[in-house]
Amino acid sequence: MKKNIPSLYGSMVFNDKVMRNKLPKDVYKALKKTIENETHLELEVANAVAVAMKEWAVENGATHFTHWFQPMTGFTAEKHDSFITPVGNGEVIMDFSGKELVKGEPDASSFPSGGLRATFEARGYTAWDPTSPAFIKDGTLYIPTAFCSYGGEALDKKTPLLRSMEALSKEAVKILHVLGNTEVTHVSTTIGPEQEYFLVDKELYRQRRDLILCGRTLIGAPAPRGQEMEDHYFGALKPRIAAYMHDLDEDLWKLGIPAKTKHNEVAPAQHELAPIFSTANVAVDHNQLTMEIMKKTAEKHDLVCLLHEKPFEGINGSGKHNNWSISTNTGENLLEPGKTPAKNIQFLVFLMAVIKAVDEYADLMRISAATAGNDHRLGGNEAPPAIVSIFLGNELTAVLKSIEEDTYFEKQKQIQMETGAHVLPHFIKDNTDRNRTSPFAFTGNKFEFRMLGSSASVATPNIILNTAVAEALSQFCKELEGTAPQDMEHAVHELIKRAIRKHKKVIFNGNGYTEEWIKEAEKRGLYNLVSTPDCLPRFIAEENIQLFEKHHIFTREEIFSRYEILLENYVKTIEIEAKTLKEMLLKDFLPAVSSYASTVAENTLSVKSFVPAVDTASAQSLVSSLGGTYEEIMGALKKLDEELPAIEQFSSIQDAADYCHETVLATMDLLRSYADQAEEKIPESQLPYPTYDRLLFSI
Ligand code: ADP
Ligand code: MG
Repeated sequence: MKKNIPSLYGSMVFNDKVMRNKLPKDVYKALKKTIENETHLELEVANAVAVAMKEWAVENGATHFTHWFQPMTGFTAEKHDSFITPVGNGEVIMDFSGKELVKGEPDASSFPSGGLRATFEARGYTAWDPTSPAFIKDGTLYIPTAFCSYGGEALDKKTPLLRSMEALSKEAVKILHVLGNTEVTHVSTTIGPEQEYFLVDKELYRQRRDLILCGRTLIGAPAPRGQEMEDHYFGALKPRIAAYMHDLDEDLWKLGIPAKTKHNEVAPAQHELAPIFSTANVAVDHNQLTMEIMKKTAEKHDLVCLLHEKPFEGINGSGKHNNWSISTNTGENLLEPGKTPAKNIQFLVFLMAVIKAVDEYADLMRISAATAGNDHRLGGNEAPPAIVSIFLGNELTAVLKSIEEDTYFEKQKQIQMETGAHVLPHFIKDNTDRNRTSPFAFTGNKFEFRMLGSSASVATPNIILNTAVAEALSQFCKELEGTAPQDMEHAVHELIKRAIRKHKKVIFNGNGYTEEWIKEAEKRGLYNLVSTPDCLPRFIAEENIQLFEKHHIFTREEIFSRYEILLENYVKTIEIEAKTLKEMLLKDFLPAVSSYASTVAENTLSVKSFVPAVDTASAQSLVSSLGGTYEEIMGALKKLDEELPAIEQFSSIQDAADYCHETVLATMDLLRSYADQAEEKIPESQLPYPTYDRLLFSI
């Protein structure tokens, strides 16, 4: 049946159209004002909105509502309350008040707080975020909310994101006014997160303890075929995958999520979905929902969607490209090179601010992508290295160089003037050659941050980016304030000149996957923070705490709590993986090894009894090699057994994390290499779990 997509789109969202239809005019206006200017909402308005929301929700089949929030687990949380209210005589009505809409009080004691919330004060608050629209899913009205403690400390990812958007808006508006662009009163960050994922057959998945418990394979020899044929990327979609993607799109569209692009990715069984960009806050909520619906839709197709950063060794892992820009309330993209020299001044200021921000806070950018899962990806020859650098493309680099050196920038006989960007609009978009190896690339009218892992919330990198850019703008603003309009062009020129000299070390247009770059980056003094425990101490470095405090993003306590949570999460992940690996090897894999070795031995003996002259050398060598590996695995398991309890002995969580990284992971790698060697010698039918061949090529 043909579906009318425009009418399906957003049909489960309490969006602007519904609000206009359902709300009294003055209420609608007051709500819009709150949404656009982030002003306070009166309770009367909230009451009226609640009534309309409930009416709409009930009409669309909802019986419950939930305050939907994003605790530090990185997932979303929800607790459902029904609308029913007794009215006597054993009857009920469906009721929902402004108070219930605006504030919730979930018992928060089981969410990670990093010590922020004492156990005697288990209460947490959820507060309605009217800037992200409510929606209906599975018979429940979902109200996006921020989550904080009794004392007002943020316990979630949304609160600091909203704070950072506000900080950036404030600083951007200030400098725009100094530059003479006085119409702008508000800017928002826009993001478009491209989401990578794997799909595997559900039946095969169920046979892999590691996939079920850890989301990634802990052992598994490479398939004879990987991604070397380069035939999967953008390849034709298989019918089962196409059907899945079709369903997924529809489910997302109903929720007003603008899913736009879908295609096969580089690795076998890997795919990607990209939405049309939207305001950061909404895009983050949408991405959380997208991940959830990706998993749910997969179930319906007897598939499992893997969002782990590195489900399989030896082939590409999954990331999430965070496309980021800033747009004004007057509809201008501040990273669009622009058509007139005056606008180009503005563009150059914002471009330079991003470069400065990323250079000065490269450590925080790295931290924003730091998880145990993503550590397997960064620095491999498939994802950006752990070194944060910026790709600008040759032309834009040349433009900045010409400003730095006071030379004229020549392009197709067009001579560059003073601030020199007349020629920008005509070539930038088309000429930013694709550089897939850069972690942070300018792509025409936005930056693309590619370090982020596929399973992570996109909130964190945007909190960092917004805050760091707000700081850069605030410093630039101080330098430009008080400049007469006729001198502005010159003043900007001088500012860029000073800034580019200081920050050009972060610009790198070459191949980020090479050894030379690692050496070069070290010479330039750039960070190369390889693992999560390596980079996290920078979160609590004094200059970084000051940055967050200055812009009211995190308090000192909030930073320390997050630092703890991230480390705890890292340690727990490694512990779970190590225990799973141990179980798989002991209970499933080693019995298979010994049973196959004895089968070979017995068969050889019985053949020999029939044909005494038969050469048994190769069978003997197979059995003895399997026996050897068996012993090696047992030895390494003993080592792991001693290491696991040691994790608990550290009094500092940082030390425990370092130990996990340096010692436990190394033992796990060793175990894996033994197991993979043995696996290659054992027939598929004798193995206790499906191999890479089947997992990656059976759909
Ligand atoms: P590319 O081919 O350079 O990756 P696309 O046009 O495919 O660019 O866009 C990739 C993602 O970037 C999409 O999600 C898109 O919506 C998003 N995007 C485009 N413009 C912006 C912008 N101004 N701000 C944020 N994201 C954007
Ligand atoms: Mg892209």
